[in-house]
Amino acid sequence: MEDTGGAPRLLVAGRRDGCGIEVRAVDHVPTLRFSGRTPAMALYESEEFQRPDPVRTAETVTAGFVLCYECDGLGWCHECGGRGWRPDATHGRVKCPACHRRRVCVICRGAAQLAVSDLSTYQRGYYPELDR
Ligand SMILES: [Zn+2]
Ligand SMILES: [Zn+2]
Repeated sequence: MEDTGGAPRLLVAGRRDGCGIEVRAVDHVPTLRFSGRTPAMALYESEEFQRPDPVRTAETVTAGFVLCYECDGLGWCHECGGRGWRPDATHGRVKCPACHRRRVCVICRGAAQLAVSDLSTYQRGYYPELDR
């Protein structure tokens, strides 16, 4: 927008039920500025979050695989339950600190299970039964 240095002049203002609207203009600029204000309100109906069912369980894990030690077969991020965000008192929603909006488990990437043959020595430490 072209800046003539003039402050916007208030042309019209209205208020009703806690809402307000203002229309401003700057001299010699062919543009109107509209601004509005509403009371703070929730943009989403808050509803109880249903955590997803696990992708794999001890009964459905593929032969040669073990349930992921991080999510225990959930497949989704264990922190946010697959939403990618978590509620925050100040900001409403904040990015999930565990998956950074990837939504799936960072270890198995959603597969919920890991191939025994691909496990590192460190990872095998989570499955003492493998070395028996
Ligand atoms: Zn997450
Ligand atoms: Zn996992």
